Amino acid sequence: MTHRTPLIAGNWKLHAGGHDGIELALAVAEATKSTSGVQVVVAPPFTALAAVSASLEEAGSKVEVASQNIYPKDSGAFTGEISAPMLAAAGVKWVIIGHSERRLYFGETDATVRDKVTATLAAQLIPIACVGETLEEREAGKTLEVVFRHVDAFADLFAENPGVGVIAYEPVWAIGTGKVATPAQAQEVHAAIRQRLVEKVSAEVSEKTRILYGGSVKADNAQELLSQTDIDGALVGGAALVAAGFGQIVAAAQTA
Ligand code: PEP
Repeated sequence: MTHRTPLIAGNWKLHAGGHDGIELALAVAEATKSTSGVQVVVAPPFTALAAVSASLEEAGSKVEVASQNIYPKDSGAFTGEISAPMLAAAGVKWVIIGHSERRLYFGETDATVRDKVTATLAAQLIPIACVGETLEEREAGKTLEVVFRHVDAFADLFAENPGVGVIAYEPVWAIGTGKVATPAQAQEVHAAIRQRLVEKVSAEVSEKTRILYGGSVKADNAQELLSQTDIDGALVGGAALVAAGFGQIVAAAQTA
C-alpha cells in the first residue's frame, strides 16, 4: 500500500491578511517545528501571501503557503483577479479550489472548479479541490450523488501526475458549525471517493491521492478522524487561527 504523507492545511478565510498574518504564520512554524512526517500548509488572504511566504522562508520553516482562490487565466483584462503565475511568483505552492463558501457566495460551479484545477496544475501548483454535500442533500440521501458530481468535474485532471492533486471532503453542514462528522461518517465518504477515483481515473491515482477531511476539525477530535484508513489529513478553518491548537492537530496527524 502506498504511503500517503499526511497533510494539514489551515484555511484562514477572511482573517489575518496583514502583519497579523505574518505573526500567525511564524507562530505556526514554531508550533510545528518539532513534528516530522506531516506536510503543513497555511492559506492566508491574498494580501498576505507574499509576505507570509517570504517570512516562512527566512525563518527556515517547512510550512508552505496556499492561496484560497485563483483565477483561471494567466493575465489580461480581469480586474480584481489573481492568476496562477502571480501566485507562484508570490511563493505560493498550493491552491484551495471550490470551497463551499465560494460555491455558495460567489457562484462557483463544477465547471469553474475544473477550470481552476486546470490552471493550477498548468502552473505546477498543487490544487486542493473541495467537495461536499449540504445538510439538505445529506438528509435527502444524496450525499454520494453530490460528492461524486463534484469529484467527477476534475478527477481526470489528476491522471497525468498521480498523487499531486489533493481532494478535501468538507460536508457543508460541518463547516464552522461545530458539528463534526463522526469518524465513521467521514471514513464512509472518503472510501467512496477513493473507489470513485479507481472507476473514473485509475487505481494508481486512487491509491496516491490524498483526501483531507474538513469541517470543525479541532485539537480534541483530530486524532480520531485522522486515524481512519482513507483520511489523509485535514483542511482546518476556525482552529487554524490559533497556532498552538493548530500545532496540536499537526501533532495528531503525526501519531494517527
Ligand atoms: C473550512 O473552512 O475549510 C473549514 C473546514 O472550516 P471549520 O474548520 O471552521 O469548520
